[in-house]
Amino acid sequence: MNLNKRLVVVGGGPAGHAAASLAARKGVQVTVVEREILGGAAHLLDCVPSKTMIATGSAVSFTEGLSGMGLENRDAEVDVEALTNRIEDIKTRLSNDVETLLVSQGVRIIRGTATLVDRCHVRVVLADGAEEVIETDDILISTGSRPRIPDFVQPDGDRILTTRDCYPPRIFPESVTIVGSGVTGVEFAHMFESFGSKVTLVVSRQQVLPGKDPEVAAVLEDTFLARGVRLFKGARATAIERTADGVRVVCDDGRVSETTHAVLAIGSLPNTEGLGLENVGVETDGGYIVINRHCQSSIDNIYAAGDVSGKLPLSSVASMQGRKVAEQVVGGPKGPHRHLDYDKAASAIFTEPEIADVGLAEAEAFASGRKIRVTKVPFSSTAKALINNDSRGFVKIISDPATGEVLGGSIVGRHAAELISVIALAVTANLKVTDIEESLLVHPALAEALSEAAD
Ligand SMILES: Cc1cc2nc3c(=O)[nH]c(=O)nc-3n(C[C@H](O)[C@H](O)[C@H](O)COP(=O)(O)OP(=O)(O)OC[C@H]3O[C@@H](n4cnc5c(N)ncnc54)[C@H](O)[C@@H]3O)c2cc1C
Repeated sequence: MNLNKRLVVVGGGPAGHAAASLAARKGVQVTVVEREILGGAAHLLDCVPSKTMIATGSAVSFTEGLSGMGLENRDAEVDVEALTNRIEDIKTRLSNDVETLLVSQGVRIIRGTATLVDRCHVRVVLADGAEEVIETDDILISTGSRPRIPDFVQPDGDRILTTRDCYPPRIFPESVTIVGSGVTGVEFAHMFESFGSKVTLVVSRQQVLPGKDPEVAAVLEDTFLARGVRLFKGARATAIERTADGVRVVCDDGRVSETTHAVLAIGSLPNTEGLGLENVGVETDGGYIVINRHCQSSIDNIYAAGDVSGKLPLSSVASMQGRKVAEQVVGGPKGPHRHLDYDKAASAIFTEPEIADVGLAEAEAFASGRKIRVTKVPFSSTAKALINNDSRGFVKIISDPATGEVLGGSIVGRHAAELISVIALAVTANLKVTDIEESLLVHPALAEALSEAAD
């Protein structure tokens, strides 16, 4: 099918490649311009390397509990070079897979940096300095984001680091202060702690993971404290200075953390500077491209998806937005479809224990005065948790007391990121608690806590 429609995708991360792939399958002539690697920052700098290191860190933590499983406890020693190679291999493989897929679907891939000339022309400066101007019908901007750096400090890539400076892991810090206790901050705290670093976490509010269910955050805080992580609650970093052999992080309440390294984990900024958006009149807000529910910007043939759109900064959301853009480019979805509902996006935090949630949160429901039913079942009530020698955590399901509709849920514990899929499906498809309860699930499995919570 050739629709004689052309789409230029700027940025080949999860948003860009999902859009390119689906649009190409729908007969659109697609060109992807990427200045680094296909798969984007997600594969190169953020999601994949961090999760690969966390997987190794979690395996180290796992070995500490072996004696409870009838095995001899052995200290696992991390081979930094092998870990570095592993990260590189996974990254390269994933990126190559994206490239192979797109090429097989007839997508043209250009290595270079793109800017918008006008609403139908994109200029690309190629790696060798040559220039090409591409004419197109539609444009998708999916250029991602970068770590936010506060005014009071300049990372040096040596002792004062952004998350992107933490891999490849040349060394593991003897001690590290992590500034920021959102998802990235707590994941890095867990990661470094599991590799043996002494960790201090600067938590600007009174709980880690601001905005998350306090009960969920409390489980993580207890684990951190039990493992010797220092929590500076209610403190904001105001200065970070190099010392003779490390760094000094000064907080607004007078507390000071002296460690060998500091890592900034205080959010991100959109990559929209220098794209030429002003040439075309694309509306932005705080640098993020303003979009409607079809991911269209203020200029109707220019779309934005992924982190640049200022919605949920998750790879999964970026990919789904990309798919929606592809559908829109060919005239909108045919047949029954759902609009993208960001409130129904599942997300996970890869700490020990793992945390995941989706949909309506308990605190949110109380704040809005909405009546809800909350059922909570600890994993310790399942045979599988005992078999795994790990009975930490719980499943919580939030439903409508009148209709039984599943509105949300959270899970803390092993495999939470996988198990949340059941609740995510229920939330998306407006299923009822009885749908989960009556599903014949596996025994023994942690998922049995889901059936119990739905009962
Ligand atoms: C430490 C960390 C861990 C994370 N872990 C997770 C996780 O576990 N799960 C999850 O869902 N999300 C995770 N995220 C978030 C996730 O990485 C982002 O939401 C995702 O990368 C956004 O995808 P994207 O397509 O918008 O952009 P990106 O992945 O950032 O890709 C954008 C691409 O655009 C290219 N580009 C930029 N400007 C230009 C230009 N002018 N011309 C050509 N190319 C250009 C860049 O080179 C890049 O390849 C994590 C983020 C961080 C910081």
